[in-house]
Amino acid sequence: MKNIVIAGGGTAGWMAAAAFARFLSPNYNIILVESDDISTIGVGEATIPPIRTFNAGLGIDEREFIQKTKGSFKLGIIFDGWGRPDQKYIHAFGDMGRPLGLISYYQYWLRANLAGNISTLWDASPSAQAAYQNLYSHLALKNGGHSGVAWAYHFDAGLYAKFLREYSESRGVRRVEGKIVQVNNNGQNGNVDSLILENGDEISGDFFIDCTGFRALLIGENQGAKFDDWSHFLPCDGAVTVPCADNGPLKPYTISKAHKAGWQWRIALQHRVGNGHVFCSEYMSADEAQAILLAHLDGEPYEEPRHIKFTTGRRRQWVKNCLALGLSGGFMEPLESTSIYLIQTAIARFLSLLPSGPQCEILAQEFERQSQIEWQGIRDFLILHYYANQRKEPFWARCRALEIPQSLKDRINLFQQSGQIFRHDEELFTEAGWVQLMVGQGIMPRAYHPLANKLDDAQLAEFINISGAHARDIAGKMVDHREFINLLLDRKIEP
Ligand code: FAD
Repeated sequence: MKNIVIAGGGTAGWMAAAAFARFLSPNYNIILVESDDISTIGVGEATIPPIRTFNAGLGIDEREFIQKTKGSFKLGIIFDGWGRPDQKYIHAFGDMGRPLGLISYYQYWLRANLAGNISTLWDASPSAQAAYQNLYSHLALKNGGHSGVAWAYHFDAGLYAKFLREYSESRGVRRVEGKIVQVNNNGQNGNVDSLILENGDEISGDFFIDCTGFRALLIGENQGAKFDDWSHFLPCDGAVTVPCADNGPLKPYTISKAHKAGWQWRIALQHRVGNGHVFCSEYMSADEAQAILLAHLDGEPYEEPRHIKFTTGRRRQWVKNCLALGLSGGFMEPLESTSIYLIQTAIARFLSLLPSGPQCEILAQEFERQSQIEWQGIRDFLILHYYANQRKEPFWARCRALEIPQSLKDRINLFQQSGQIFRHDEELFTEAGWVQLMVGQGIMPRAYHPLANKLDDAQLAEFINISGAHARDIAGKMVDHREFINLLLDRKIEP
């Protein structure tokens, strides 16, 4: 295997190109084919902390990245109106307090809460405390000690792809402009042999990466990988998006606001706010979804709204000598900003299973096994947002009545009865993520881990107080989010 062809140049295509340029060049020839006539989806703008591992792996400088993508920092996601219409909570990144002895902070908090203590779970989260005040800095991390802050980014998807394109081309990736009109197969083994472009050119390769977005030209149309439809679990199937002006402070978090048959995102970048309304077409027309979105913008819209249709689910991502990355491999709504993460982990998984030749079925099977666990863990996490709601609208009533996966039922039962949460296998979401979601959506357990009783009442109160004071102290060392970005870009602080 020597020649790898990437079909498509959206976020998935250029992330793959950049990673291959970094880790496979010069032993492999990397070609990326994309068509300027076919636009990218262009809306994946919120990420989660593992994106930093990806960027670090490429050796990307954070200042240059923030500058070139007009990016901002993200400490979590505020969920507005998800449990009850008048309730908000944050899924904050990083620590939710520090463990003590064998058990996590939240076990002590559960005990205190059951005894009537009024502190919230998030009082002990430095990221939550900072986010609520539009503060940001991760530099406290560098001054010794453990700050407990974790961060991700918001960025302009088009600029990110451009940034990665420059990175990739400067490291030997060859970009070919052209529309793919045909995929040629090998008559003997069914592998993809080459791509035919509209101008008649033929691009041959040993391995093909399908990054053609929802079209799934290679993996779907050509290789016929079956799409596993998950809309019975996650029924939203459309989105309307529009960027607008930002009239307030630069928020270091994504907002997810529930509406009557879906939810709206708000992602603040340096130069604009990205907005979108994800909705279920069975309960709301596209026109109504658009009207609701436009009525809930913070500033003047910059463009005409764009409509996108989708089906939630995934297909087998690796078939013969073809691997699907990004939307061609499947889609789950951006409620927890997981799609770009799934591209990143699929690239890493492919590199760890790198085939040496065209006979790679056993590697493809292992890829599938690992990916299924990962996707299902995220799917369950998303379902819980919908399932555990106390809203009155028909759409939300239907979500409460959803037949949810057994794995999720078991997790909810365990938490309700014992206060325990465990991370399954190597799934993305940590104990801290799950506990915020459960508590935030109104699922409160009847019990807590018995080892939380090792503290007497006074010690418990002191531990809760100290944990909150630590979080406030870390947040207090931060500065206004926009000011932090200006200081970074003006080279007054080092990343
Ligand atoms: P695309 O961006 O669609 O790119 C496809 C590429 O294939 C293009 O370059 C196109 O030119 C090329 N192509 C297609 N057909 C041909 C052809 N015949 N010949 C040549 N080239 C071709 N993810 C997140 O992580 N966070 C988010 O906040 C987030 N929000 C989202 C909101 C919505 C409404 C949607 C739908 C998705 C969101 N995502 C988000 C997902 C994210 O946008 C995608 O995972 C990411 O952009 C990758 O897209 P892609 O590269 O697979 O496809």
